[in-house]
Amino acid sequence: MESHILHHDKQRFEPKDKVCLFCKKSSLNRNMEDNLFTPVYAVQDRTNLLVYSNVKFKKIDVGVPRCENCRRVHSTVSIISNIAIFFAVITTLVLPIYLSVEFNFSTIGLVIALALTFGVVVLIAMGVEKGLLAMYDVRSKKDGSLKDPLIKEFLRGGWSLKRPTA
Ligand SMILES: [Zn+2]
Repeated sequence: MESHILHHDKQRFEPKDKVCLFCKKSSLNRNMEDNLFTPVYAVQDRTNLLVYSNVKFKKIDVGVPRCENCRRVHSTVSIISNIAIFFAVITTLVLPIYLSVEFNFSTIGLVIALALTFGVVVLIAMGVEKGLLAMYDVRSKKDGSLKDPLIKEFLRGGWSLKRPTA
């Protein structure tokens, strides 16, 4: 592997490149733990019986070159979006119930109101994350990972970024 070195003990590929794939800036003296380690999965064996399903898979972490600044941005963004989701969930539950009491909704009306607020709130939470990343001019964890040559190679080889489910 040209772009990465396999670290046997940690079961991961460590990147050699010093150019951050999230802000495209180069930095010297990069700390290995600032890189983003994205797991890739491949299904090895799948069992599907009527009452039992199981999947065995391989997993390896691929290091995507990331600078210290982008690591900080990613952790800030995930803290803020978790807070946004927390308030979003509360709003989703409270607002429709409040409205249904206030305006005397039927059960169907309440269900529709719940679905609508949930949809709006999910969009807002996604927007918060996108907006923050755009503000810092940093790619999301997924978008940056997809630029990594080794991850691309794994994906071409049938591996996946999603953990296989039974
Ligand atoms: Zn960066």
